[in-house]
Amino acid sequence: MGSFGKAVWAHPSDFGDRERARRMAERLSDAGFELVIPCVKDTRGYLAYPSEVGKMDPKLEGDPLGVLVEEMGRAGLKVHPWMCVFPEGEGSALLEGNPELSALDPDGKPLGWACPRRDEVRSYELELYREVSGRYDVAGVHLDYIRYAGPQMCFCPTCRREFRERTGRDLAELDRRDPEWADFLVWRAEPVTKFVEELRRAMGRSEISAAVFPGYPDCVVSVGQDWADWARRGLVDFIFPMTYTNSPLLVVGYTRNHLAQVGGKVPVWEGLGKRSSQSQLSAEVLREQVEAARCAGAQGVVVFHYGALEDVDLEMLREVG
Ligand SMILES: [Zn+2]
Repeated sequence: MGSFGKAVWAHPSDFGDRERARRMAERLSDAGFELVIPCVKDTRGYLAYPSEVGKMDPKLEGDPLGVLVEEMGRAGLKVHPWMCVFPEGEGSALLEGNPELSALDPDGKPLGWACPRRDEVRSYELELYREVSGRYDVAGVHLDYIRYAGPQMCFCPTCRREFRERTGRDLAELDRRDPEWADFLVWRAEPVTKFVEELRRAMGRSEISAAVFPGYPDCVVSVGQDWADWARRGLVDFIFPMTYTNSPLLVVGYTRNHLAQVGGKVPVWEGLGKRSSQSQLSAEVLREQVEAARCAGAQGVVVFHYGALEDVDLEMLREVG
């Protein structure tokens, strides 16, 4: 393997205009970063570029992704546009016209997500990926929220019907003590994995990276996300587990498990939460976690998120890798 990889997740507020994008490219290239992952579809369903498929965030102007791609290209950094795949909220062009594609909870309430089992849903998300990769000069694309919202999704009529056709059972009566629960888990994860297969076919040799839950295989059970399977089958090119914690001890343990799960098939870059809902790291602790991930065998790190990175963090990161 080559040098230690460094990447960062970024929000439109970080790269919304030319000046900020240029400054960002400068700071990141000085610190030896090679990949930027800009959020271009948020959990509301809004996009950060003028799209012919979905809706751009009305608070944004011009073409934020276009500007970012130009500035990063000039600085020699790669870009993987980042989409939150299955959440479809107030900004969703998909659910606005087709509310019947909503994912439902057991009481029939919409969850603000689209149902992965519906072909129309996966086609829409795929169309967005085709649009960004076709229009912009990017090295690849990035998957996030490539999963269910939680154990209580999805109970839409299609999911209930298909489950009944397959098993003769009602989806609502199943629980983890049921002898058929193991089969149910496999059935539930299928459409999420199917989307990754479809994306692989659509992207050809373009890179695909995925932000995934750090606890594997628990995430197969909780959210239908079987990322080790995707990695082992070469459906993705990078696994970025979101190992957001204040504890370097957990970073070591998680990293070892992640590497064991993918069996060397693709690089694992540990996602570290400089500032996230579960962590807040000083420059010293961030350094400690980078070292912990590297010593445990990770091939790189991805920092969440650019807006939280101070100069002192970037100076520290310049020293590693
Ligand atoms: Zn469903």
